[in-house]
Amino acid sequence: MGCDLVPIPVLCEAKEGVFELGPGMSVQVSAGLEKEAALLAEWLSGIEGVGQVGISRAPVANAATSISLSLDPGMQRAEEYELGIAPQGIRIAAKDAAGIVRGASSLYQLALSQSRALRSLRIQDWPRFAWRGFMLDCARNFFRVEFIEKLLDLAALHKLNVFHWHLTDDQAWRLEIASKPELTGRGAFRQDMRYEIEWEKGGFYTRADVARVVEYAAARHIMVVPEIETPGHSTALLASHPEFSCRGASDPSVLFKPEDHYGIFEDILCAGNDRVLAFIDEVLEEVCAMFPGEYVHMGGDEAPKARWLSCPACRSRMDVLGMRKGGGQYEPERLQAWFMGRMAEMLTRCGKRMIGWDEVLEGGIQKDTLIMSWRGAEPGVRAASLGYDVVMCPQTKACYLDHKQFDVPEEPGHLGVCTLKDSYNFDPVPDGLRKEEAAHILGGQANLWSELVYFGRQAEYMLFPRLCALSEVFWSPRENRDFNDFSTRLATHTQRLDMLDVLYCRGKYF
Ligand SMILES: [Zn+2]
Repeated sequence: MGCDLVPIPVLCEAKEGVFELGPGMSVQVSAGLEKEAALLAEWLSGIEGVGQVGISRAPVANAATSISLSLDPGMQRAEEYELGIAPQGIRIAAKDAAGIVRGASSLYQLALSQSRALRSLRIQDWPRFAWRGFMLDCARNFFRVEFIEKLLDLAALHKLNVFHWHLTDDQAWRLEIASKPELTGRGAFRQDMRYEIEWEKGGFYTRADVARVVEYAAARHIMVVPEIETPGHSTALLASHPEFSCRGASDPSVLFKPEDHYGIFEDILCAGNDRVLAFIDEVLEEVCAMFPGEYVHMGGDEAPKARWLSCPACRSRMDVLGMRKGGGQYEPERLQAWFMGRMAEMLTRCGKRMIGWDEVLEGGIQKDTLIMSWRGAEPGVRAASLGYDVVMCPQTKACYLDHKQFDVPEEPGHLGVCTLKDSYNFDPVPDGLRKEEAAHILGGQANLWSELVYFGRQAEYMLFPRLCALSEVFWSPRENRDFNDFSTRLATHTQRLDMLDVLYCRGKYF
């Protein structure tokens, strides 16, 4: 069967005959698609027995050895493509360059699983959602650029188009900011308390590393979204600037170091200190210059308010802004909304849009903020009903891939259980949403937090095959999805993962 692809396409029609992949093949380029042709040639050349696939700029004399790429402005949807395989040649036509890469990934999957004789077929395909993301937490543990590139290739293989890069947290600041070397100097390494001898653990991404990741992702039509956590999850920032905490502003004996423990910490950025805002403004100026995508994620989750309530500067700010209830109690959630609103304004000046975790809804955040719904689907539903754009990534048995895949003590993971079937049965648009509310749900995202994920191999195990399931949730039409059918296709798909040296979770899947 020709359509054992993951994610399953919209339409697939089997035809007679085969196309022989082999030496002397070339991708025929039309103007403007040179990078996409180079990517496809690189993918196919990497398959054993195919040989070096060339790129030709003129029409190839022997069509039976060529793959032609072309744009079809008549297509209606972003990323839409058509793939035709026939004994006479292979053709990918698409609405846009991104669609060419989505079509190329289908061809790549078929070539990985069918060896060199590709069965003839015709596929028409387009995405259900515009946002098909995966997040890697590189703060709790550091992952090399080479590993991130491997994941970007695997993301492209599954037609994902957003890489959410979690770069800062209590445990580390991983992003080089040229004007502020102290951020990585004190924030990118921590003492690993599991060892008696002091062990420094960590690393950070230089500007050159970031440029490399951004370019690698762009070649696959994947947008990179950096996340800079504020105002909570910021201990690693406070390690170099303790004066930006509420307690540290007046007490020089208050010091921080990147956390070796995990959880939620009371000391967060002071919202009453103008120097904090000026500092973040300077950081964001560099972040915006490094990342060409439309979005920057500013966190906003799990920020306890105890420090703000006892801080003279924060209290004064709330007094000036009139943030008291009728009974006189302070309303720190509104202060957070004000603080996040300032971040959003800074980003707007750079031509970007802010993303926040769903807590930013509390206290009222500006309407162009993109909400990531993680505490279940309900905050996302509420946000959509209020007119916010939403990305669904609920931790409730769906999108949190740090959870165990099976409910047994031997299985790695923590904080919950999310089986392959749980991920597969998730739908970013909950039942009962009105049409105009559903239109605000841009898509979904798989999140891999790395508190307990120390090595890339472990990350692969947590991601796969649940990420395969979620790619189908995000890409394929709802009516095409069937878990039994997916399980059958997965038997073929895991052969592809084997060929790409992916350490996926095996065993019974449900
Ligand atoms: Zn304060």
